Amino acid sequence: MPTLDPLASTLTLATAGYAAWYSLACWLAPYARCRACLGRGRRRGDRFTHRPCRRCHATGRRLRLGRRLANVLRHEHETYRSA
Ligand SMILES: [Zn+2]
Repeated sequence: MPTLDPLASTLTLATAGYAAWYSLACWLAPYARCRACLGRGRRRGDRFTHRPCRRCHATGRRLRLGRRLANVLRHEHETYRSA
């Protein structure tokens, strides 16, 4: 039975731990602050106006990448099941 390289197993554990933590975070808090408007929902337009942020549709929030991925995967799964 081959022994695992301690560094490799540590890295694997760390990656798995991070993935678990990240998916938990995406599940508990699917929204993160919009980076384009810093959560304000508005962007500075010209000198006197503030335009609604197009990136987050003026909500100031954006769906996390992990959650979006989960949504896509779930959608694919449901499509596959109904087919
Ligand atoms: Zn925004």
